[in-house]
Amino acid sequence: MNKYWPVPEWLEAQSYKQHPRSFGTKRSKGRMHAGCDLYAPLGSPVIAITDGRVIESGIFYLGTSQVTIHHGLLGVVRYSEIETGSAPKIGSMIVAGQQIGKIGSLGQGIHPMLHIEHYSGGATGSLTNLKNAPFFRRNDLLDCSVLLDSLLCLRKKRC
Ligand SMILES: [Zn+2]
Repeated sequence: MNKYWPVPEWLEAQSYKQHPRSFGTKRSKGRMHAGCDLYAPLGSPVIAITDGRVIESGIFYLGTSQVTIHHGLLGVVRYSEIETGSAPKIGSMIVAGQQIGKIGSLGQGIHPMLHIEHYSGGATGSLTNLKNAPFFRRNDLLDCSVLLDSLLCLRKKRC
């Protein structure tokens, strides 16, 4: 199975392991950050890390959208804060490296980014679960930085 780094124009100096971009970093009202943020230029491409099928697509946050892809054994990835209207439809089959969106605008004063979340796929139901503090996500949520670490060598062409 081919694999790709999700944001070709990622601004690498802004690490996804540092606050406020890192997984588990504190947000308001006791919420913890459920994903990793990859800063990139507005409108630049977001690509699928591997083959999969779109299982969810729609509005996300501050006027942006999300697309959720089931990547088989690799689990479920939610690609979010992308431009509304730029994502493929639910049920679409996706190939590794295919463009699945563009980096969206979160408004003035917030750097455009891909907010990426990773789930094992071992649970069912909505990925956002307001009863499940502190992340308020489904209980098969994983630390996305583990997945990103495993993909980073692809960007550096050293896998
Ligand atoms: Zn985020």
